[in-house]
Amino acid sequence: MREKIIQGPHPDDDDHESEPSRSTKPTDAVEEKLRPQRLSEVIGQRSVAERLSIALAAARKRNEPLPHILFDGPPGLGKTTFATVLHNELGVELNITSGPALDKKMDVMPYLTNAVEGSILFIDEIHRMPKTVEEFIYPVMEDFRVDVVLGEGMSARTINLPLKKFTIIGATTRSGMLSAPLRDRFHMHEHLEFYDVPDLARIVTINAEKLKTTITEDAAWELARRSRGTPRLANARLRWVRDFATARADGQITLPIAQAALAMQEIDAEGMDKQDRRYLETLIRVFGGGPTGVEALAATMNLAVDTLDEEVEPYLLRRHYIVRTPRGRKATAAGYAHLGMVPPAPILETEITLLDQRRLFD
Ligand code: ADP
Repeated sequence: MREKIIQGPHPDDDDHESEPSRSTKPTDAVEEKLRPQRLSEVIGQRSVAERLSIALAAARKRNEPLPHILFDGPPGLGKTTFATVLHNELGVELNITSGPALDKKMDVMPYLTNAVEGSILFIDEIHRMPKTVEEFIYPVMEDFRVDVVLGEGMSARTINLPLKKFTIIGATTRSGMLSAPLRDRFHMHEHLEFYDVPDLARIVTINAEKLKTTITEDAAWELARRSRGTPRLANARLRWVRDFATARADGQITLPIAQAALAMQEIDAEGMDKQDRRYLETLIRVFGGGPTGVEALAATMNLAVDTLDEEVEPYLLRRHYIVRTPRGRKATAAGYAHLGMVPPAPILETEITLLDQRRLFD
């Protein structure tokens, strides 16, 4: 089978900055060089990788396409990487598009009719696909056919167009926004978790080597600790620190160089950047620590709700700096402490009571 990648325009393509926004897919050559190509090169996400290796082996033995797979998780954790790896492992064609690019049924049609046997269609941000397009691809996913309506009114008739058997891989940062019928049509659902520090340190070390840069072990761990559990951020931090080392020193990344470079970008010891701290500051200083709705927070910060929901909040939630309550977002004692602030007494009391209750059941 032929091997090729066809990538449609990404809606964020105009959006380049030196430190990429966490949702912006960096598509430059260096980023592509750092992307693992085979399953054996993928670091972490062991159980996901293991299940995919089973799916791959079965597809190879039966000479069938892979099942439809849905990846979900915050940006930069490897959804596109896994799709690329699966395409490389099978040596099949990969077509890449995204939900916002598939505005009308006719936008998706060429991807369906051009799909060859066993190929992969990767739909990024699949939750942003309009309902009409979503419904249009149900029969594709079930029976490899599209139903096209010809004519209008009384003379309208539907023809069924058979398609080649291929695989749809969907990626989403908001699995909750996916309709149940669409979710159910994926045979495998894989949730990607934030990476732990040892895995990120391995990614940094391997990628420094790919970039032909020397990095000391303690510097690699420092970068890993300050990358918010996200390989894409680890890569972005590495590239910045590498530039800093070249400009200000002899090119070698040591711990003091890494620390100075990250301080210059205002990335703190926990890996939080300006945007994370602004979120916490707004929640605490403007909204008295919450609870407050994400819309109010986004309006005050002059950011899109999606940016907070998809990029900022998942890691703050994971670090327990904030909690989601039915009445909105709330800062925790740890969130206050991160800004060097003392939480008001009621928060401390609630958290201590919760801790006591937990101990009772331990
Ligand atoms: P997503 O599609 O989830 O937004 P990507 O797959 O584009 O994220 O990952 C961003 C970058 O992070 C990749 O280019 C790759 O260099 C790195 N990366 C992601 N997952 C892994 C992994 N498991 N092992 C090594 N590097 C990874």
